[in-house]
Amino acid sequence: MADYPALHMIIDGEKVSGGGRRTFDVVNPVTGEAIGALPLAEAGDLDRALEVAAKGFKIWRKSSPQERAAVLSGAARLMAERQEQLARVATMEQGKPLAESRIEVMMNVGLFNFYAGECFRIYGRELVRPEGTRSTVRHEPVGPVAAFAPWNFPLGNPGRKLGAPIAAGCSVIMKAAEETPASALGVLQCLLDAGLPKEVAQAVFGIPDEVSRHLLGSPVIRKLSFTGSTVVGKHLAKLAADDMKRTTMELGGHGPVLVFGDSDIDKALDTAVGGKYRNAGQVCVSPTRFIVEENVFEKFRDGFVERAKKVKVGDGLVEGTQMGPMANPRRPEAMDRLIGNARDKGATLHTGGERLGNQGYFYAPSVLSEIPLDADIMNEEPFGPVALINPFKGEEEMIAEANRLPYGLAAYAWTGDYRRQRRLAAELESGMIGINSHMIGGADAPFGGVKWSGHGSEDGPEGVLACMVLKAVHEG
Ligand code: NAD
Repeated sequence: MADYPALHMIIDGEKVSGGGRRTFDVVNPVTGEAIGALPLAEAGDLDRALEVAAKGFKIWRKSSPQERAAVLSGAARLMAERQEQLARVATMEQGKPLAESRIEVMMNVGLFNFYAGECFRIYGRELVRPEGTRSTVRHEPVGPVAAFAPWNFPLGNPGRKLGAPIAAGCSVIMKAAEETPASALGVLQCLLDAGLPKEVAQAVFGIPDEVSRHLLGSPVIRKLSFTGSTVVGKHLAKLAADDMKRTTMELGGHGPVLVFGDSDIDKALDTAVGGKYRNAGQVCVSPTRFIVEENVFEKFRDGFVERAKKVKVGDGLVEGTQMGPMANPRRPEAMDRLIGNARDKGATLHTGGERLGNQGYFYAPSVLSEIPLDADIMNEEPFGPVALINPFKGEEEMIAEANRLPYGLAAYAWTGDYRRQRRLAAELESGMIGINSHMIGGADAPFGGVKWSGHGSEDGPEGVLACMVLKAVHEG
């Protein structure tokens, strides 16, 4: 495909490929055809990356806030300049509409600029002590970080995985998803071009299980940062525990949306439908389980179906496309399985529930209602373009349903009642809550979950502190 770049790893600043290494075919999800061959790391590549990361940490832990800020803000400037090129590559390998890829670039720009400022705000503390003695609390970078980023935000996930360790003074070895390598390389290249020492950040690809066992098995790595499914997250947390490495785990969700009769239903619908089909539903904070007060259930369901049918599905590179294909063949397969199981259990399918076209991984925007709670889709993250709409009797029952699952990433609520807004903010078990809004992130806000959705935060001051450890120094 025209203008899709040649693929490689970046180890010690060197573009590494060929040499008899195994390769992985990167595929355009619009056609299912290969557009690039990605070299996969051998054990020797990973050992070299570890050795370099150890050196990188020695260099970067001593860097000044000015140096770190200059690299981050310089990279932000380069990303903004390269916005169109980065966005096109992301759409080619992941499928999302170009407009969404452009937003992803700008989210990285905002985050890197925020982190640049944050470099100057890593304060310690001096404790009150008798004269002649001194006790201080210092934040220090944790050490080399292994960061694993998934394919759903091919630019945004690598931005988070690289930005925080670099702001904190750590080195980082990133393994981004093999399905979307060029976007991740594009983000790293901006940092290197902005003056980041080549030892500080590297990119490897490989067989995920081989890479994670190798990196997490090394004492060089002091922290794991992972975004992906809860199943893989639990497995990696156990590997990290063997060497007591710190972890930030940004895992799956099953976003409940509570819709009360006293809310602005049209606004809720416009917002929720846009949110649901963004990135074909492959978003960890996607609104998924619509928990609707029974007096507005039919109105909400019918309004949702009407809007879902109007979503323009197509090639993400074509302007005007609102939803692209799913990112890989595993996703439409999962959708067929989950929707089939829900229907077998008695759910009603109002629209969608089928693949579109005869090539690539397109799936129709789908709506199910009256889904039994024991259907797989009511318990397992669907990670696809399907809304699940069920009626409930009142606030208590609705909160109980929202908190029923072991996940707790993002929750949303629509209600005009101010006191109820307060109660929901307190009662919903979730790392992030949107009330009469689905905007739940921002460069300055912590992003992360509770329960099986993981622990630790990305973004905000918390994202940088998550790459630091505390040291208390007492002087007599
Ligand atoms: P998956 O669970 O196998 O992979 C998810 C991510 O983890 C991928 O990027 C993959 O490369 C990585 N991964 C898998 N095994 C790994 C290992 N042993 N070591 C290191 N990294 C590993 O499956 P998938 O088909 O790619 O995605 C399926 C599910 O993952 C989705 O249904 C969704 O629940 C979840 N997911 C979540 C996010 C998120 O933003 N939280 C992003 C992508 C996928």
